[in-house]
Amino acid sequence: MSLLKPDSCRQCYGACWGMSGYVPADGDGSSGCLMVLEAAGSDEAASGKPTTGKAGHYLWSQLKRVNIEREGWRIHNVLSCQPGPKNLLAKMPYEHSVISSCAPLLDATIADMRERCKQNSKTFVILALGKIAFKRILGISEGSPILKVDTYCYPIWSEQYGAWVLVAPHPSFLMRGNNHLVGILQFAAKRALSGSEYVSGKLWKRARARGVIETTLPLSNRVARGLLSVAIVIAGR
Ligand code: SF4
Repeated sequence: MSLLKPDSCRQCYGACWGMSGYVPADGDGSSGCLMVLEAAGSDEAASGKPTTGKAGHYLWSQLKRVNIEREGWRIHNVLSCQPGPKNLLAKMPYEHSVISSCAPLLDATIADMRERCKQNSKTFVILALGKIAFKRILGISEGSPILKVDTYCYPIWSEQYGAWVLVAPHPSFLMRGNNHLVGILQFAAKRALSGSEYVSGKLWKRARARGVIETTLPLSNRVARGLLSVAIVIAGR
């Protein structure tokens, strides 16, 4: 049965899509990792749970192939509802307005996760799947230089959220003939889990202290590639 949207949704353009079909965050986040995707689809809107539609099943089946389960993740979408009957968000006239109206819901999940990570001595890692989620988490716009470099799987520090951010392709994109990129999704998810669980963020923190990975600075591909190799060694211990 679909959930009712909170009253705050009445101020949002998305209210015209109906006042039911709300999809709040799901999962206990005990791994220290928050997965952020774009928006709910019709299956999620009906069940009230993120990643339960076709793309969600594809996502978890691909992660299962590398022994990653849903358990332990916290999952939330940039939009906590389904964006209109056609599921369209990117480049739609309402894109920026609904994303900013929905921001307090995702921000509350992020703040809650940061607190849970502190209590459980985890390094807080956000895995953003797809460009919409990546832009939203880093607070960048379409023309940002960081979007012009290969950022898949590289840890980027978010001062705003006190979290390491990794990005990987959205499962819907992979399903549209891009399944050769599944390995990137699997590696990014593994890296998020190992960064939170095993590395305890020390390696990434040292890199941050040297100022090589900040959201406010242009990302150096060369340095990030170096970090990637070191992190693989650490995670493989
Ligand atoms: S986009 Fe977010 S704030 Fe707007 S109606 Fe949907 S759930 Fe509510």
